[in-house]
Amino acid sequence: MSTVFRVDSEATVGLPDTRRSPVPFEVFTERHLEKIPQLEALPAERVREMRVVASVLPFRVNRYVIDELIDWSRIPQDPIFQLTFPQRGMLDPADFERMASLIDRGAEKGEIKTLARQIRTRLNPHPAGQQQLNVPILDGEPLPGMQHKYRETVLFFPSQGQTCHSYCSFCFRWAQFIGDKALRFSSHEAGTLHEYLRRNRQVTDLLVTGGDPMVMKTRHLEQYLDPLVAPELEHVQTIRIGSKALTFWPHRFVNDADADDLLRLFERLVNAGKHVGFMAHFNHWREMETPVAREAIRRIRDTGAVIRTQSPLVAHINDDADVWSTMWRNQVRLGMVPYYMFVERDTGAKRYFEVPLARALQIYRDAKRRVSGLARTARGPSMSAAPGKVEVQGVTEVAGEKVFVLRFIQGRNPDWVQQPFFARYDEQATWLDQLRPAFGEKEFFFEEEFRRMQGGGS
Ligand SMILES: *Cc1c(COP(=O)(O)O)cnc(C)c1O
Ligand code: SF4
Repeated sequence: MSTVFRVDSEATVGLPDTRRSPVPFEVFTERHLEKIPQLEALPAERVREMRVVASVLPFRVNRYVIDELIDWSRIPQDPIFQLTFPQRGMLDPADFERMASLIDRGAEKGEIKTLARQIRTRLNPHPAGQQQLNVPILDGEPLPGMQHKYRETVLFFPSQGQTCHSYCSFCFRWAQFIGDKALRFSSHEAGTLHEYLRRNRQVTDLLVTGGDPMVMKTRHLEQYLDPLVAPELEHVQTIRIGSKALTFWPHRFVNDADADDLLRLFERLVNAGKHVGFMAHFNHWREMETPVAREAIRRIRDTGAVIRTQSPLVAHINDDADVWSTMWRNQVRLGMVPYYMFVERDTGAKRYFEVPLARALQIYRDAKRRVSGLARTARGPSMSAAPGKVEVQGVTEVAGEKVFVLRFIQGRNPDWVQQPFFARYDEQATWLDQLRPAFGEKEFFFEEEFRRMQGGGS
């Protein structure tokens, strides 16, 4: 039974009145650091460090996160503080010093921007060749707001959803948040999305992503999603929405003026026979503890949408098996399905956040061992690399050699999926490109074909 009712001023008689007083959304960026009351209690040096880092990496946080999620008695270790606030170690020490001295001597904006741009280009702003390799073509024209990497799934980046209610300090899409337009790919073209889907009947899943599509007004989402129920789009069975709004702004589903309209949209899609998968990004169980987050989860589930959860494994936030086992257990209790544990990507402040693959695997295993089967549904640790999603399955010994057992969860060529392959064990390696094939082989089984796909010949 649904408990979602439309809030129409003329139609509320006889229905439970779900109208709530809207909670104002108040956001702070690097220009408003001194306006955050909680920072006044911190040593000046710490705020200076934040300012230096925030001049290079994107920073945005809202009052809900500051007031309800961060435990200010436990900073700097508090995981939500680490998730949202800039930390000194996110920059290379030499870069930090250079930027700090510019800011300390009150350098001009232009000078600061130039140095910031230099530092950023060294932080691999566009990992995994997303931009060049995956843009679909319609009638000879590239469609910039879309990616089609795996046969059955199309990613769509609506232009109104290319920001988030707050920014994660480890975000792999950080480059698009600092106004680097060349790195931004988005679309406001609902028409081309639907036309592309009509002509590509192998596509079963549409994944709407961002930024965070839940920053969009419901009426914009409706333009993209309502037409998917048309008979000629019957093959698009699943609509996934990637979002961190349950963490950063759960009021989106409870108190915002168009919250109920959003839930009605989910309901319409479900009733039309679509699977609505709400892909919730949670890094720590603390994000799911507030009453409004609980209410938002309950309301989304009431529409018939299924909430699946995913997170990267990141140092300083969740590199601890207890954090993951508690998170998975609580998610199952709240009716959500753990789906992915990602390896932090090779971009941005990865020097601060990265965890070696060997350690990631250990954390994954220890966490899984501590929960029942229902909470063991998350695949991982998984690297979203250019050839596909590669899962580290285990460490073993084959013919006297210690190796990682790997497999593709998703591959640019579907034939690669599920084939085990082996890399030399390396305790320090943090990403696929640092691994070498085991048994003295020259390259991994997919590499030659992958080069050909990139148009690079042999
Ligand atoms: C992860 C991902 C998908 C979805 O893969 P599933 O295994 O179906 O969850 C689709 N496209 C891209 C580019 C991805 O990274
Ligand atoms: S929610 Fe996702 S896109 Fe938004 S800042 Fe966090 S990691 Fe980046």
